[in-house]
Amino acid sequence: MKNESFEKNPVFGWFGPAAGAAIFKIIKSSGPLSRAEIVRETGLSKSTVSMHVDKLIKIGLVKEEHNDRSGAGRKGLLLSFAIDSGYIIGIDLGASSLNVALCNLNAGIIDFCTEELFVYQGPEKVMERICYLTDQLLAKYKLERVNILGIGMGVPGPVEFETGIPVSPPIMPGWHHFPVKKTLMDYYGCPVYVDNDVNVMAYGERYSGWGKNIDNFIFIKVGTGIGAGIFCDGKLYRGSQGCAGDIGHIGVDGNTTPCYCGNKGCLEIIAAGPAIGNLAKEAAEAGKSFLLAEKLKEQGFITAKDVGMLAEHGDLACVDLIQKTGQTIGQVLAKLINFFNPSLVVIGGGVTGLGGRFLAAIKEVVYRRSLPLATRELSIQNSSLGESTGMIGAAAMALNEVFSHNNVTEMVSLENSRLIL
Ligand SMILES: [Zn+2]
Repeated sequence: MKNESFEKNPVFGWFGPAAGAAIFKIIKSSGPLSRAEIVRETGLSKSTVSMHVDKLIKIGLVKEEHNDRSGAGRKGLLLSFAIDSGYIIGIDLGASSLNVALCNLNAGIIDFCTEELFVYQGPEKVMERICYLTDQLLAKYKLERVNILGIGMGVPGPVEFETGIPVSPPIMPGWHHFPVKKTLMDYYGCPVYVDNDVNVMAYGERYSGWGKNIDNFIFIKVGTGIGAGIFCDGKLYRGSQGCAGDIGHIGVDGNTTPCYCGNKGCLEIIAAGPAIGNLAKEAAEAGKSFLLAEKLKEQGFITAKDVGMLAEHGDLACVDLIQKTGQTIGQVLAKLINFFNPSLVVIGGGVTGLGGRFLAAIKEVVYRRSLPLATRELSIQNSSLGESTGMIGAAAMALNEVFSHNNVTEMVSLENSRLIL
């Protein structure tokens, strides 16, 4: 490669295969582009751009197509990211469910399998089902393991990201230090990335939801527990020990409810799904709601989902419960917003099924209790991806790693789009 081409544009400071990776990034984020446009964008010579583009086409990351759009003045050949030249598997493991998706290279779900599976059944049984469902999807689309460029997986507990090993996950007995990442890598021979479910959902929102183009945002999952995924300056922030965003045990002002962690008044013990069910049960027993009492008699228990449904039917005790829970979450959220100054907060997880009142109660407290400057540009939304957030997020997390600058540089130098492990 001619070094003089870099002198024209010192900003584009990549050499050799790394220049190919940088050109791939430009095509992926701004394509379709013509070769001439890439020359203009990078300041590289026409022949250097052609050499790298040819290599990217050869390894299947980029495709070249005729552009017939009239009026745009861009007739001729255009280069774009080849999103169907390989596949990503997105795995969303919940406490009681398993979703496995076959995705294109843009984290779009092509097809998925779902089944009821309890994570407490242990890693051997669960990993076997994951491989079985993945193999079923591959067979259905006549794909081989070699067609998978990467696998992303979210699990309902803390994970050491580098090694993909769960660390003392409270609701995953038998999974402590189980080599989740290695097991899948050994079987499929491709890169595997494992993280906790909340970080994975934040990735989904960043890639395909409200978080697109938003560099600083918080994803809050309210389900069986409460946790947060944090995007800071466009990157997921994991913290020094990987447990950033573990907000479930932040204390709520004036509350003394004992928590299983040994403290009192933790957010999770007051405002997560099981807490809502328990408070509804108390309301039913205290004769505050006929509908809740009927539900309790019928099932023997009440879920947060029941509360949401009865609130929709106008049950005042349920409406009150939803508002109070939303306000409690809003109280903690206001502090996080003052501290972190995000421009977006996304609320996801099972409890978002509580409807518009829940989000309204959160917003009301946040706007009242946060600093005016911190909320001036702040948007608070329910997750836009619904039940697919975990699968899309797992695929998006894997894509983010597979197509990192270093990995693409390696693919270009190996002339192979599949990272050789
Ligand atoms: Zn606690």
